[in-house]
Amino acid sequence: MTFSISVIGCGFVGLSLAAVCANKGIQVNAVDVDTDKINSLKQGIVPFFEPKLKEMIVSSRNNLVFSNDLENSILESNIIFVTVGTPQNDDGGINLSFIETACKTIGKSLKNSVGDKIIVIKSTVVPGTTQHLCEIIESNSEQKLGKTNFIAVNPEFLREGTAIEDTENPHLIVIGTRDEKAKHTLENFYRGLYNNKMPKIIFCNESTAELIKYTNNAFLATKISFINSIATLCQKIPGADVNLVAESIGEDKRIGKYFLNAGPGFGGSCLPKDISAFLNYSKKIGVPLSIISAVDEVNKNQKDNVIELAKELVKDLKEQNVSILGLAFKKDTDDIRNAASLEIIDKLLNFHSNVIVHDPMASKNMMSIFGSKISYADSIEKCIEGSDLCIVLTEWDEYKKLKPDDFVRLMKQPNVIDARRIFDQEQFMKKLNFRAIGLGL
Ligand code: NAD
Repeated sequence: MTFSISVIGCGFVGLSLAAVCANKGIQVNAVDVDTDKINSLKQGIVPFFEPKLKEMIVSSRNNLVFSNDLENSILESNIIFVTVGTPQNDDGGINLSFIETACKTIGKSLKNSVGDKIIVIKSTVVPGTTQHLCEIIESNSEQKLGKTNFIAVNPEFLREGTAIEDTENPHLIVIGTRDEKAKHTLENFYRGLYNNKMPKIIFCNESTAELIKYTNNAFLATKISFINSIATLCQKIPGADVNLVAESIGEDKRIGKYFLNAGPGFGGSCLPKDISAFLNYSKKIGVPLSIISAVDEVNKNQKDNVIELAKELVKDLKEQNVSILGLAFKKDTDDIRNAASLEIIDKLLNFHSNVIVHDPMASKNMMSIFGSKISYADSIEKCIEGSDLCIVLTEWDEYKKLKPDDFVRLMKQPNVIDARRIFDQEQFMKKLNFRAIGLGL
């Protein structure tokens, strides 16, 4: 069977899927409601930074059509992947407005469509959402799903910064559907896409698939908050080092070494909002997840932990020049959504510090939030020059190359906080006033 697909929502998930599929010769219609975004993409301009994405989009041009015309795109496709955003509401719960709108339009176009179509919910949604989306599609298409058109949940596990690599080599495919037709079509689609690199595939119903994604993210967040709790403990134990604790427990296969990096807390467009939505959802159905509440609380406190370290070095932050190296929530992305930098800069501004920042990719995004309240340096040197305190908040490779002498030479007072544990503490402690997350002095 030959596949022609639509991808609804040209964000990190949608564009990565569209580019990887088009690169493998599949005809892809990539659709978004954002006209500016589609116009940029048509010219080969990707409106955010993701390694390898732009190159892959340009090289797959022949199989990749960008448009705002959702209805027509759907008519031309046999699989419709829904990859629109599912952000957070003010009450912490999931905001379904984008996905509901997309499903309304899908329903309307199914009314005029011929042939079987599979609608695949790839966006992260709380259990029971797909059932609700089915109702929206059915009422707008005036036909029941499960006859000629089918629905499935197929959660996405990619990481920003390695989105293409992860889309090309997923560790798992989860297909949640009760329709045999959807199950077989999607399995065939993925077997064709991955051939001999086909990962493990798990079939389940829709709610289980929805729950798998939240459980996965909640567990990852738990590992981070767990090690950050130990990091805070280490800071009160002379000579203790969380990195050695993490490395050691990571050798135990039952624990595993990933997501045990102590730092300023998790951020980004997924973990914080998914944790919040999961908590909100679990409370609503009467099973509050106390472990996940603690994970959330530890994560929020971790920004205060960084400020406490700052105060250990500079007692009064008022009118001190504070340089921040790293704004993105992690390296290799320009995404600052829920990044630790946002809250830490806010706190420093409340102390009336003079804040100057640097990031190889994310400064422009930060400008749209803090404007002229802070200064932006276009080089690391200009950022730390003349500062009283420097805080490293993102683990960019270029920051890892910095030596203690660079700080001593350029700063007014060599006070450095390594919130990402990228520096050799022995060297740094010898030459400057140094504090690091998870390091007891
Ligand atoms: P994003 O915010 O980067 O992009 C979403 C896109 O959807 C935007 O371009 C927006 O304009 C578009 N959109 C909104 N409403 C639309 C509509 N009605 N029709 C067409 N397009 C519409 O989002 P993302 O980071 O790609 O995430 C998408 C989903 O995947 C979310 O549910 C997210 O939780 C999940 N997810 C994200 C990641 C990640 O690392 N970013 C990883 C796994 C899962």
